[in-house]
Amino acid sequence: MDYEKIFADAIEVIRSEGRYRVFADISRERGNFPRAVRHDAGDNARTITVWCSNDYLGMGQHPKVLEAMHTALDETGAGAGGTRNIAGTNHYHVLLEKELADLHGKETALLFTSGYISNEATLSTIAKLLPGCVIFSDALNHASMIQGIRNSGAKRHIFRHNDVAHLEELLKATDPSVPKLIAFESVYSMDGDIAPIAEICDLADKYGAITYLDEVHAVGMYGAHGGGVSERDGVADRVTIIEGTLGKAFGVMGGYITSSKAIVDVVRSQAAGFIFTTALSPVLAAGALASIRHLKGSSVEREAQQERAAVLKKRLAAANLPVMDSVSHIVPVFVGDPVLCKEVSDMLLNEYGIYVQPINYPTVPRGTERLRFTPGPLHDDKAMDSLVEALRDVWKRMELTRSVAM
Ligand SMILES: *Cc1c(COP(=O)(O)O)cnc(C)c1O
Repeated sequence: MDYEKIFADAIEVIRSEGRYRVFADISRERGNFPRAVRHDAGDNARTITVWCSNDYLGMGQHPKVLEAMHTALDETGAGAGGTRNIAGTNHYHVLLEKELADLHGKETALLFTSGYISNEATLSTIAKLLPGCVIFSDALNHASMIQGIRNSGAKRHIFRHNDVAHLEELLKATDPSVPKLIAFESVYSMDGDIAPIAEICDLADKYGAITYLDEVHAVGMYGAHGGGVSERDGVADRVTIIEGTLGKAFGVMGGYITSSKAIVDVVRSQAAGFIFTTALSPVLAAGALASIRHLKGSSVEREAQQERAAVLKKRLAAANLPVMDSVSHIVPVFVGDPVLCKEVSDMLLNEYGIYVQPINYPTVPRGTERLRFTPGPLHDDKAMDSLVEALRDVWKRMELTRSVAM
């Protein structure tokens, strides 16, 4: 058996579809974001501007966050030293969980080592505990939710993206006596659209379902205190479980859920992805805590991000570039072909010093390949001038489509 060949052939398929992933090797520079230094294959270094980071607000270099992490490192050392149950619960974890519960107005919260794990562990655990549970899952839900739903073994129905009429149809057709869970996101990060959370909660009330909301691309960025779209819309108390990450707008690393005491307690007690793994480093917990506290009290970053996104959308449209509809801070630009998408991205990086990763299948459906820009408070007018100029140039040279065809 030629094992190596089987794996190499699998890679060849990915390559032939233009989906082979090449990681840009970059050194982020504190105080200089969104600039970074890129190391190419020949180990030449060049300054670039990052346009696709999920460090949406630049909190990954915020002085308060860094100071908190330095302090925690000096106080406690590097790692947690164990799982949460066996010597690994640090006081920073406890403070952070309190802060997260308060951020979302919930009874309590639970930390995970990533947002991915929080989704997988929570969904698989709670759906398993509800006898005959049926899950209603938005068609564009993140891979981590899909994995959790699969691992729960529960029956699932997929409703058309953000389509409450379709969701209701499916709920109506389900036995009223079985437990039901509706799983969805607030901001969908590849299209930049936002779920009708209140309407989904109305349906949950009407059909006796609980709700699971992934606010990963909204926490820190929406709501008066950064509690996400559920805070902005005044509906956080209607959502059963809110899940988020500490790795995107909060600029650090880790994931969490907030909910009632009973739900959090059962996940804490039963979820393998929570139990059998070393707790988050206290250094990370301290950084996340400082970041959340700062963004709770400061809207400057959120307002600047929204302003920057609005300006970029306007400027791209004015340049006749196929910017896709988005009601959030995400700015997708349509390409519609995986090979071209990769080529455009390479060109931008190699020739213009602009870093935007191509977004191809399976992250988005085939034929909807795109570039996804995430402007933030630190992308100034000058950076935007260079970006629009470069895109104009590349679109002309490559004769790329000017319209969004989805
Ligand atoms: C990134 C992402 C996650 C995973 O969060 P991590 O903290 O990066 O593991 C979960 N859900 C959605 C929608 C995401 O985009």
